[in-house]
Amino acid sequence: MKVLINAGPWLAVPPPGYGGIENVVATLVPALRERGVNVVLASVAASTLEADELLAVYDEGQFTELQKPYNQVMGIAHAHQARVAAELRARDDIDLVHDHVEVVGPAVLSALGGPPVLHTLHWDLHKHPAFYGAFPGAIAVNGVSESQLARAPEALRAASLGAVYLATPLAGQDVRAEQGEHLVVMGRVCGLKGQHVAARVCQKLGLPLVVAGPVCGRNSQAELDDVLQDPYHPLHSHPDVRYHLDQVSRYLDGDLVKWVGAVGGQARDHLYASARAALFPIQWDEPGGTAVVEALALGVPPVGLRRGCLPEIVDHGRTGFLADSEEELAEWVTRTGEIDPDECRREARSRFSPAVMADRYLDLYDRVLRSGR
Ligand code: UDP
Repeated sequence: MKVLINAGPWLAVPPPGYGGIENVVATLVPALRERGVNVVLASVAASTLEADELLAVYDEGQFTELQKPYNQVMGIAHAHQARVAAELRARDDIDLVHDHVEVVGPAVLSALGGPPVLHTLHWDLHKHPAFYGAFPGAIAVNGVSESQLARAPEALRAASLGAVYLATPLAGQDVRAEQGEHLVVMGRVCGLKGQHVAARVCQKLGLPLVVAGPVCGRNSQAELDDVLQDPYHPLHSHPDVRYHLDQVSRYLDGDLVKWVGAVGGQARDHLYASARAALFPIQWDEPGGTAVVEALALGVPPVGLRRGCLPEIVDHGRTGFLADSEEELAEWVTRTGEIDPDECRREARSRFSPAVMADRYLDLYDRVLRSGR
């Protein structure tokens, strides 16, 4: 079977550091190829993931361009999708398109009349009823958690083929590090991920916290300073930049709470694997949560607020803790020693490994091909 996997033009695959969708694709593709699937990857030329073919318009990921005016963002998305569309028109050896690109992906691809399309929904669908309401039926879709689909517009939920949980190559790899004193909060620094709550809790408890993740595509304090020192910089008033400045940086004065910028590769794995716990004080209904399954795979108990996909991934009291308030979160943070790290690792291996994800997708590909959508 030959599948075109559309990862979009925003970041290379695998991403150098932070990268949600691109990490999912980097996890899925090797497992699909091990199962005999021929993969055509649509991404950017800087992608180093092994695939049978690479399609690209752009040399590098266009992530930082996402902050530009809407027309320019759409221009980039359209140029990428047009390249994919041209390829699909020019050849007939692709059996199925597995699309991960939100903006114009599904709309363009479904209009082609080419091979069937499976679109994976990566976002909190509650926010986009009009947009997502427009295409159910034309293409097949799947979600990344049951709670995400439960919040989707009715028609989309009805049309979906179900949820496939996100996975991590760390599941089953047995990466170990000596446990340090610190806790970690890993992810984009923004109000939705709630880093300020993690900082407040750790400061109250006197526990060291490492905040890892980019702010609006800025990967270090120096990169962020370029934005902050220029009042005319287009990102100066961006909500994520303001969030870091107004709500997170006030906790960064002392030694207890540190922001280390975005971390990638082995540095990320080591920082994560040596943590006492991974905090998820999320302020939204997290649709998928790659960082949560990564924590489990590394034997680090996730401690988070009971929202979004967290209750589907974390088994309270066995593989981590879920809280209903900030006060409760603080209490569970002090009890992470009660969680058996091997139980977390076993859970990740059995539910969130690349093999499990690839088998689920192969099943969905089969259903899509048989339904002839
Ligand atoms: N991530 C990373 N370095 C960082 C912050 C995040 O490698 O400094 C990774 C993280 O480990 C995860 C991915 O980025 O694999 C995105 O995670 P998540 O699904 O939690 O976030 P979202 O897609 O909502 O941004």
